[in-house]
Amino acid sequence: MSDLYHVLATAHPSLKRGRVWCYRCGYTEQVDTASAFRHGWPKHCGETMSIDSPEERQRLRAAYQEEQRE
Ligand SMILES: [Zn+2]
Repeated sequence: MSDLYHVLATAHPSLKRGRVWCYRCGYTEQVDTASAFRHGWPKHCGETMSIDSPEERQRLRAAYQEEQRE
C-alpha cells in the first residue's frame, strides 16, 4: 500500500506512532492514522485530538518560554 494517505501517515514520527491525546481530559487512544486522514480525525471532549503527548507539549511550551526570556 503506497497511496497518499499511507505516505502522510508514516511521514511524521508522531503520526507513525499512531497515538492521540485529548487536550482537555488527557484521554489517549491508538489511532489508525491512514484511516483517520481518510475518514476524519478522532475527537474527544468536542475537540480534535492531538498527536503530541502531554510531555512533548510541556517541553515545547518550556522551550518557547525560554525563548521569550532572551
Ligand atoms: Zn477528552
